[in-house]
Amino acid sequence: MCTRVCSMCKTKKKLSEDNFHLVKGKFISACKVCRNKNKPLHAKQRRERLAALGIKEHIEQYKKHKESILAYHKQPEVVERRNNLRKAKYAENPAHYNVPKREYKQKNKERINELQREKDRRRIERLDDSYVALLIYNRLNIPIAEARKNKVLMETYRTLIKLKRLINYNNKR
Ligand SMILES: [Zn+2]
Repeated sequence: MCTRVCSMCKTKKKLSEDNFHLVKGKFISACKVCRNKNKPLHAKQRRERLAALGIKEHIEQYKKHKESILAYHKQPEVVERRNNLRKAKYAENPAHYNVPKREYKQKNKERINELQREKDRRRIERLDDSYVALLIYNRLNIPIAEARKNKVLMETYRTLIKLKRLINYNNKR
C-alpha cells in the first residue's frame, strides 16, 4: 500500500483520492482534512488579493479564466456538492427560505426602492445602453432590442444627450 505523510498534520495516510486531493494527475502534499480546514482562509485570501487588485483586474482575471471556471462549475461532482450544500443550508433553517416573496418585499421595501433608485441614477449618469435605448424607444418609437443593435444610432443618440446636458449645464450657470 502506498502511503504519504501529510505535510501539515504529519499523519501517515494511504495515498488515495479519499485522503488527498488529486490536482492535474498528482496528489497534493497536504491531506484533505488539512486542506479543507484551510478552505475559508484560502477563500478569504483570494478575496483580499482580488480586492487589492481592483475591480478592473478582477474582471480581467474572470475573462481570462472564464472557460475553465464555467467548466469547473458544470462538473457533475461539483454540481452535486453544490446541491448538497444548498440542501444542508436549507435544512438548517427552512423558515429563512420560506418567507413569501411578497412579505420579503414588504419588509424590505425601503431598501429595495433605495437600491433601485441608486441603480437608475448610475444608469442615467453613465448613459448605459439600456437607458439610451429606452430614450430612443420613447422618442423615436424604435423597439429597444432593435435600437441596441444599431451601434451608429446608439452612439449618435448618446452624443445628443451629452450635448443637451452640456447646454442645460451652461444655461444654469
Ligand atoms: Zn493533514
